[in-house]
Order: sequence, then structure tokens, then C-alpha cells
Amino acid sequence: YSDGMLRDELREILKNVTDIERLTTRLVYGTANARDLKSLEKTIRLFPQIKELLNGAKTNSLKRLNSEIDPLTEIADSIENTISEEPAITLKEGGIIRRGCNAAVDELYEMVTNGKAWIARIEELEREKTGIKSLKVGYNRVFGYYIEVPKSSIDQVPDSYIRRQTLSNGERFVTPELKETESRVIGARDRLYALEYELFVALRDYVLNSLEPIKTAANALAELDVYCSNAEIAREQNYVCPEIDRSDKIILKNSRHPVVERFLEGSYFVPNDCVLDCASNRIMLITGPNMAGKSTYMRQIALCIILAQAGCFVPATEARIGIVDRVFTRVGASDDLASGNSTFMLEMNEVADILKNATKNSFIIYDEIGRGTSTYDGMSIAKAVVEYTSKKIGAKTLFATHYHELTELEGECDGVVNYNIAAKKRGNDVVFLRKIIKGAADDSYGIEVAHLAGVPEAVVNRAKQILASLLEDAPVRVSNKKQDDDNVSFDLISENRVIDRLKALDINTLTPYEAITILYELKKELD
Ligand code: ATP
Repeated sequence: YSDGMLRDELREILKNVTDIERLTTRLVYGTANARDLKSLEKTIRLFPQIKELLNGAKTNSLKRLNSEIDPLTEIADSIENTISEEPAITLKEGGIIRRGCNAAVDELYEMVTNGKAWIARIEELEREKTGIKSLKVGYNRVFGYYIEVPKSSIDQVPDSYIRRQTLSNGERFVTPELKETESRVIGARDRLYALEYELFVALRDYVLNSLEPIKTAANALAELDVYCSNAEIAREQNYVCPEIDRSDKIILKNSRHPVVERFLEGSYFVPNDCVLDCASNRIMLITGPNMAGKSTYMRQIALCIILAQAGCFVPATEARIGIVDRVFTRVGASDDLASGNSTFMLEMNEVADILKNATKNSFIIYDEIGRGTSTYDGMSIAKAVVEYTSKKIGAKTLFATHYHELTELEGECDGVVNYNIAAKKRGNDVVFLRKIIKGAADDSYGIEVAHLAGVPEAVVNRAKQILASLLEDAPVRVSNKKQDDDNVSFDLISENRVIDRLKALDINTLTPYEAITILYELKKELD
């Protein structure tokens, strides 16, 4: 982080490092080919340069990494001396062993190339000998090499030619000399391929024997790569080194969302603070208009915690992170219809998971839970979740909601503090200020955001009318709810009566007929 020059040089070299991990797997499974070994050699050749750079490093981690990278010169030399500069992909068709590496390979190679050259020259020689200008030497898999003579010159063919095939416009022949050279070439070629493969396998086994130092170096390079990338991004994007402790506090000044800030075009990312602890600032209940930036804010806090605990700097000007045991999130609605779950079911599954597993030391974000069902059900669930999280779990929590009724929990429920993301209404539109401030939001400005999004004027105006009439009817809706509550209490009375009767029953003295009668009565009572 503090040595830009070292970082740049290391990053430059690391760009050329191959995926050693993948290569070692191929080595173990015996699927590595000559090109794999060649790229391993090229990577190993970078080790001394990396080590030299690390020799000047001051931190213990970099010194340790240096000690874990063995120059492995012998392995690189063996690969260089054995494998040709641009080896073939296949292993059993030659073209992989370097000339000069093995005398037998060189000899066979000579035989093959000379033989081939001789066959190529036969065409010329035979033309001269026979005077047939259009004579050609060709090859096919059935007959091997042959001499082709067109029909018009058949009478000039010498007796020594042996006929092999008659074509519509000519004939194909072989000669004993041609066949002899062919078998010499093919024999030599097969032996060459086999020998090249044998030498390659021996080299692959030799490299395999040094797998441990290769793997150790690969891990060290991977770690170095992580450090370089983290340091680079921290420098480039102005991240700060977090203070990490075992307190229960999360304090971030001017934190930003590491990804959203990179993708905002033509606007500036507004940084925000965060103060959380396990006491009076335990749950930030965040309201605010749609599009205000609630989800972004919550995710950026979670990301800052994760980055800090992963050993990275964080996008903020000051960060103090009390270690959390887990980060739980209930965000967005990613449907998983294939698994047989509805969107709401999935949301509730995740909420259930959080409620069962989070501890006082966890960090939770809940983004608009309850929105996937009817308003009253959703709001009740949301409220109960805040209460449970505050009272039973006590984890540091960010909770975003459009149920403004929940803001009453501040003061009622320990540790709940209202926040909102500021926005201002201007005419028909809303201006987003993106700043998180204390207090509850006054409105969700849903219709204004719909207008901003381009929903047709007619729909927006009609929505306003409907909203106005709903607000007028609001007291009636409340009284309906009251009726619902009455129903609930009525149900409870009959349930209690059923329970009382069941408790009083002595099953041992009942006849089957009595049992079925009582069961019938109980069911009737409940219905
Ligand atoms: P909704 O309630 O509709 O889900 P929201 O309040 O969760 O909305 P976000 O989805 O977080 O809003 O943010 C909306 C957009 O606002 C983001 O895509 C991002 O482009 C922009 N935005 C969010 N926060 C900031 C910020 N701090 N600075 C600049 N732009 C931001």
C-alpha cells in the first residue's frame, strides 16, 4: 500500500503468471500436456524476479511469501531442455521433444524427415526416368504412397511399376523402392512418436515429484496477488485502513458503496456515516422514499464490515469495526420458482434462518421484509421481526421499510433508532439528497417516483386520486381492522373452551362411540 513502485512492478510480473493451481491439478490427473509444462516453465522463470523484488520488502508478510517461493530452477531447466519451443497439443503424434535433448529422438527424427524428403524427390526422379511429365506422387490411408499416371501416358509406364488402383482418368502404381522407403519412414515415425511420449511422461512424473514446492509457491503468489490488488484498489479508490477490535461497535465515517460509486455516471456518490453498537444504537430503522438509497446504504455497511474482516481497507474516511460473527442479509427478491418456493416463501425462509441463527454479535440487514404479502400481514411480520431482533437477539441491525407505522418502535423497543434518507419534494418530482439523517421519513413518495420512472401521466394522476380517497377512507379501514381483532378474540374463546374440555377428558374410560361423539362436538365448536 505504501510502496507504489514495488506494487506496480509486482503486478506487472504477476500478469504473466499462469494458473498454476489448474496446472497442478492436470499434473495430478495425468492430463497435463507439453504446452502446460511449457507455461509452467515460463511462470517458474518469473520466480527469481519476484523474489528479487520481495527481497527489498519491509513487512513480515511479504518476507514470509518470499521464503515460500522456491526458485525451482531445476524444474524449469528440465522442462526447457526437454520440451520444444512450441510443442504440439497432442502427446502421441510427436512434435513435443526438443532437438538435441535425446540422441535416439534426433536420429529417428532425421530418418523421418529424410525419408519424407526422399519421397518428395521421387516424383522428380520418376518423371525424368519415364519421361511422363504429368506423373505425381500421392498418399492415401489405404495404399500409403503411390505413383499416379494419367491414362494418356499409361503406355510409357515401365514394367517395374506394380498396378494398385485404376481410376477413371489414370492408374496408381507402387514400386518396391517406394514401399521400402515408406515402411522405413513409417516405422521410424512410430518409434519417434512412442519415444517422444515416453520422454514426456518421464518429465511429467519428475515435475509431479516436486508438486509440493510448486503448490507452496502458487499459494504464495496467489496471496501476493490478493495483497497487490487490495492495495491497488485502496490507493486508487481512497479506502481507509480499518481499526478492528473486539468491541461491539461499528463506526464508519463517510462510507461508500464500493461498486455503486464506480458505476454512477455523471453524479457523485454521497458518503454516509454509521454508528451501531449493542446498546442504544442497535437497530437503525430506515425509512425514506423509494429510490432514496436505503438498500445501497445497508449493503455498503455490510460490505465495509466484510471487507474489513477479510483484511481489506474499506471505502470510508474512518472505520472502526468490532468483529461480527456473521453477516446476515435479507435483501432483494430473487425468485427461485424452480425449487418450489414462492417469492414470499423464500423471503420468510431467509427471515426464519436469520431469527434462528443470529447472535448478539451478528450483523443483520433486512431490506423491506413483509412486502411480499398483504399490507397488514406484512407490517405485522415486520414489526414482530424488529421486536424479536431487538429483544431476543440484540444483534446490530439495519432495517429498511416503507411501513411508516414501524417508526413508533423508537422509544418503545430498546435500541431502535429512526433514520431516513433525505429527499425533498419539488413540484411533481422528488429530489434525492442521499444523506442519512436521524428521524422518520414523512412519506414514501411512491407516486412521484413512478412519475420519475416514466409511468404515463394518466396513470400517475389516477393513482393520486385513488390515494386521496384511500386516505379519506382510512378511519373506516381502521374500524374494519378492529372487527378483525374482535374475530380473533372470539376464535380464541372457542379454542380455549375446546382445550379445557380436552384437558378434562379421561380417555381410559371412554368408549369408542363416546370418543367419536366428543370429537365431533369439538370440531363443531371450532368451526
Ligand atoms: P426502494 O425503496 O425503491 O427499494 P432504495 O431507497 O432502496 O429504493 P436504492 O435502490 O438503494 O434505493 O438506490 C437507488 C439508486 O440511487 C441506486 O441505484 C444508486 O444509483 C443511487 N444511490 C443510492 N445511494 C446513493 C448515494 N449515496 N449517492 C449517490 N447515489 C446513490
